[in-house]
Amino acid sequence: MNKLTIKDVDLKNKKVIMRVDFNVPIKNGMITDDTRIKAALPTIKYAVDEGAKVILLSHLGRPDGEKDPQYSLKPVAERLKELINVPVYFVDETRGEKVERAVSQLKNGEILVIENTRFEKGETKNDPDLAKYWAGLADIHVNDAFGTAHRAHASNVGIAKYIPSVAGFLMEKEIKFLSAANENPQKPYVVVLGGAKVSDKIDVINNLLNKADRILIGGAMMFTFLKALGKKVGSSKVEEDKLDVAKTILENAKAKKVEIVLPIDTVAAQKIEAGAEKKIFKINEGIPEGWMGLDIGPETIRLFSEKLSDAKTVFWNGPMGVFEIDDFAEGTKKIAEAIVNVTKKGCISIVGGGDSAAAAEKFSLAEEFSHVSTGGGASLEFLEGKELPGIASISVKKN
Ligand code: AMP
Repeated sequence: MNKLTIKDVDLKNKKVIMRVDFNVPIKNGMITDDTRIKAALPTIKYAVDEGAKVILLSHLGRPDGEKDPQYSLKPVAERLKELINVPVYFVDETRGEKVERAVSQLKNGEILVIENTRFEKGETKNDPDLAKYWAGLADIHVNDAFGTAHRAHASNVGIAKYIPSVAGFLMEKEIKFLSAANENPQKPYVVVLGGAKVSDKIDVINNLLNKADRILIGGAMMFTFLKALGKKVGSSKVEEDKLDVAKTILENAKAKKVEIVLPIDTVAAQKIEAGAEKKIFKINEGIPEGWMGLDIGPETIRLFSEKLSDAKTVFWNGPMGVFEIDDFAEGTKKIAEAIVNVTKKGCISIVGGGDSAAAAEKFSLAEEFSHVSTGGGASLEFLEGKELPGIASISVKKN
């Protein structure tokens, strides 16, 4: 990696302003899942142990530039206090005298959490005055929030104009794994795509046609491809305005000798509901009107598992079916297991955030992959081959 990391800089006696991802789910003031806080601990602890004064910045939810108490980071600061053995202070402001006083009182190895960055209108607009203000509080910026790397905001990108920005451990791991898949993947490189819409994945598929050996397509997006091939898909979800795009993708794949593998059967129902009557239809025989394909079928599970069995690199984004409902979760679970199996044989497997990461969690498999990305949107944009502003802004290593 050609980016500076937190290990490349001297942190002793330094004020470090660190952008972390504390965007945790909160219900009635209680944190319902603290995974993201725990995930940020290694970088925070490292800075503390090195003798830095640590100022933490994060967004939480979408308060849209308003001070909205339901999105306060106070409960997060309290949870952090329980998880780390050093003083953690919290200021209920994002700038001003209170913040400055708290920063000036910080001792080496202590932590200050300031209020939700998105209480500031300028945060998502990457306002230079706001960025300059936050930069003025510290000597070094640490960027450990990969989930926002596809956005140029003041707290991740703007600050880096005024003080050096280095990657934290989470960010470093994301860049390493995603670059490995994008730059020189071990072959065969097999990509598994699913989820709701083809339209979200067009750019990533087009880029992957230059890199992958095989692309397996499940989820609702499979029906747009199957319909483009003239199959009867019944009442399954189809993006009618993307049929031509799907056709072009299939033609380009042929020209580039990338194998696109589409499902051969599907588990269908008449309603998206737990306990609804289910039937398996073979794609070649067609799905009758009134029935919707909601998962890949057992023959497809076998086919996809076989197509994964010799992979040396796997990228997985998007569930194979409506995995939130157990009746339609089998395909996603079995494909996740097939990826885990090949990982055990030395394949590098990357799960691309969002719903796929949630599915991996649901099946208690998250620990079994080489890497589960923390950023759904960011990991997709990375694999689209785009330069992410929140990575571009991190200082480059000089030789
Ligand atoms: P995405 O955000 O694009 O990854 O889409 C994920 C969503 O797609 C999940 O909420 C799934 O329930 C949904 N999904 C997956 N397969 C199907 C399907 N066959 N029909 C309808 N929705 C689906």
